[in-house]
Amino acid sequence: MLKFEVLHQSKKSTARVGRIHTPHGIIDTPNFVAVGTNGTIKALDSATVTEIGLQLMFCNTYHLLLQPGTKIIKEAGGLHDFINRKLPIITDSGGFQVFSLAYGSVADELKSRGTKNSGNLVQKINEEGVLFRSYRDGSKFLLTPETSIQAQKDLGADIIIPFDELPPYHIKEDSLKLSLARTHRWEKRSLDAHLKNRNDQAMYAVVHGGINLDMRKESCETLTKLDFDGYAIGGSMGKNKDEMYSILSHTLPLLPKEKPNHLLGIGDLDSIDAGIPLGIDTFDSSYPTRAARHGVALTWNGPLKLTQASCATTFSPIDKNCTCPTCKQCNLAYIHHLFKAKELSALSLATIHNLHFMVEYMADIREKITQDLI
Ligand SMILES: [Zn+2]
Repeated sequence: MLKFEVLHQSKKSTARVGRIHTPHGIIDTPNFVAVGTNGTIKALDSATVTEIGLQLMFCNTYHLLLQPGTKIIKEAGGLHDFINRKLPIITDSGGFQVFSLAYGSVADELKSRGTKNSGNLVQKINEEGVLFRSYRDGSKFLLTPETSIQAQKDLGADIIIPFDELPPYHIKEDSLKLSLARTHRWEKRSLDAHLKNRNDQAMYAVVHGGINLDMRKESCETLTKLDFDGYAIGGSMGKNKDEMYSILSHTLPLLPKEKPNHLLGIGDLDSIDAGIPLGIDTFDSSYPTRAARHGVALTWNGPLKLTQASCATTFSPIDKNCTCPTCKQCNLAYIHHLFKAKELSALSLATIHNLHFMVEYMADIREKITQDLI
């Protein structure tokens, strides 16, 4: 079972250093959670991800449901066995992706497949759930609180997420109110389904309410009355960093301090820096891995474009002080050449460095909190 302990509460801010204990090991907090949509961090194998020291990995139920299917993963012994990962995993409900399909802001993974008319894939949305077609082969899926939880039981991640509705950013207040009420009913149904068979998994509620601070408060009040193990902050976080900051600074004080919280889908360095003093424990984002695949290395001096001309003749690593396998083995000129030659190893080498950077970045943040510097 999940257990959370706060090791140090900063005297300077609401930031805290803690530890989440899961059946597959410890997650030091605050921490960064890399996104492995299809059960893999793109361009890396599980052994390398473990070696880098990434303690928690985020996998998407929606994608795994469509390919290879959660039943096959269950047959393999669950997601940990299937992908050969011994460390903790968190899965989402699939709600984010199906509602992205319905409202047109298609997830990046789908965009890259050119699914332009993806709105047509959603057949029906009602109180029961969402009926949609697979973008892969057109087969029909019914995603409800109960089927999402069953899929997440089959996957067997350490932390799971209740099925929720993701309303679009531009939504009228009365529609947002209806959506919030439905999300709360769906989260309760998800929790009930989960509690019938805990399976040594923990469930984080998802706080909604969009950019409406009263509804955020209502969401916190409703969900904290239920037996969730932690709280994720989801839904629309606004159109800029100021709106996000306002939502987080109003929402976090309303969540119980003794339980872990998670910011869903946001984990760029600026957002991490803004979220830490407010008390965010974990952040998931595909930003560092996507940046790597686009030839951008994260460094303590800011992002470095690996394909820029000056790298072609730089015979030192991305960062001389970096201890990652990439920086220990390769100089910039070589990595630059691999990107220019469109070699696949370029993607792996850059991803290894960026994930290692995130691991170090979060360790540095924990150290600063411990010293009350944040
Ligand atoms: Zn490195």
